[in-house]
Amino acid sequence: MPDKIWVHSGDAHVLEPADLWHERMTAEMAERMPRSEKVDEHTEVLHVDGRSFERKIGRNPVMTEDDLRAAGALVEGSAHRQVGMTFTEMGGFGRPPGAWDVELRLRDLDHEGIWGEIVYPSIGLWNGLIKDPVLYRDGVQVMNDWLKETFIDITPRSIPAAEVSSRSVDDAVAEMNRVAGLGFQAVSLPATLDADVPNWNHDAWEPLWATAEEIGMVLAVHIGSDAQDPTNPAGVSYRGPGGAVLNWVETAFGGQRATAMLVASGALDRHPGLRVLVSEGGATWVPFMADRMDEAYRQHGVYVRPKLSRLPSEIIYDQVYASFQHDRSAVQAYLAMGYRKVMWGSDYPHIEGTFGHTQHIVHELFDDIDESARYQMTRGNFLELFPTVGEPPGGGRRPAQDD
Ligand code: MN
Repeated sequence: MPDKIWVHSGDAHVLEPADLWHERMTAEMAERMPRSEKVDEHTEVLHVDGRSFERKIGRNPVMTEDDLRAAGALVEGSAHRQVGMTFTEMGGFGRPPGAWDVELRLRDLDHEGIWGEIVYPSIGLWNGLIKDPVLYRDGVQVMNDWLKETFIDITPRSIPAAEVSSRSVDDAVAEMNRVAGLGFQAVSLPATLDADVPNWNHDAWEPLWATAEEIGMVLAVHIGSDAQDPTNPAGVSYRGPGGAVLNWVETAFGGQRATAMLVASGALDRHPGLRVLVSEGGATWVPFMADRMDEAYRQHGVYVRPKLSRLPSEIIYDQVYASFQHDRSAVQAYLAMGYRKVMWGSDYPHIEGTFGHTQHIVHELFDDIDESARYQMTRGNFLELFPTVGEPPGGGRRPAQDD
């Protein structure tokens, strides 16, 4: 094995324990929080606040347990066993996997060469579908308290992203202030909002941006966290030829739209200290989006409101970070396109991620590139957002700066 390259991950998840809501909420409310139910080996149903959505269960065609064992990468009892399982089943083995047991999780991270990570929910990515503002407000409080007990109280290596309501800006601001007091450094925002709430470019959200900047809270947008009915045939769910690939492509767009809204509306311009992380969506879209917005800002200038103090490209290059897991093009966004906020991410323990083959991927991506660029993508950018994670002990140093 070549030397381990220690990385921080701009994309990881925890699995909400199935009994969390029932332990801390009334049964009536707990029943309405997002949960999944397995129908058959290919299908699960998500239940959210009285509505139900069927979705296909992902399978990993690349790494089987035998593949992992042959590669010497099998960690017994760990999260690779999620393959072909619902979110809920991931936690259902005799020994709980790292999906929600922090001790096992840290063992997995050590094995993979991942030191720090931001941690998103799993089922909570569908929180934006909750219609009842009281359920949303109380449910995310329960989740955030559990995240504090599970991560912040236990290890400085995992940075949990707190959830806040996307139905009420007042509730979102109050919860953001509350979790800052608990030690949170990031809040997770749905990439796409429900159709009946003001979009991210709307001035209604201004108090949230002002608060986040004031208290230094990173806005973390995970792709696929779209408050849209995934079974609506008029929506973004594809069947037939290419469906699986098309659906995966589709997940990327929500994070791109949210970012464009934050830039074009002037939210990031008014709050230059505000920083956004878009996780799991790749990175090459940022230079594309920068060019696209600059073109509109210039060519359609007579229609453009509000005017910005900087070009959209300057704002997005400065304040928006983007994490990717496998894309070779993401490295080129940094090297060839001058977009420096590129961040590697593992997506642990989900199937799109690199669990079981992290070092293989990281070596493939970064072995042949300049040391300072490699450092920035593997750890430096993460530490700009979350400096408390620090460097892995003995796991590498910051290269001498050449600029
Ligand atoms: Mn992810």
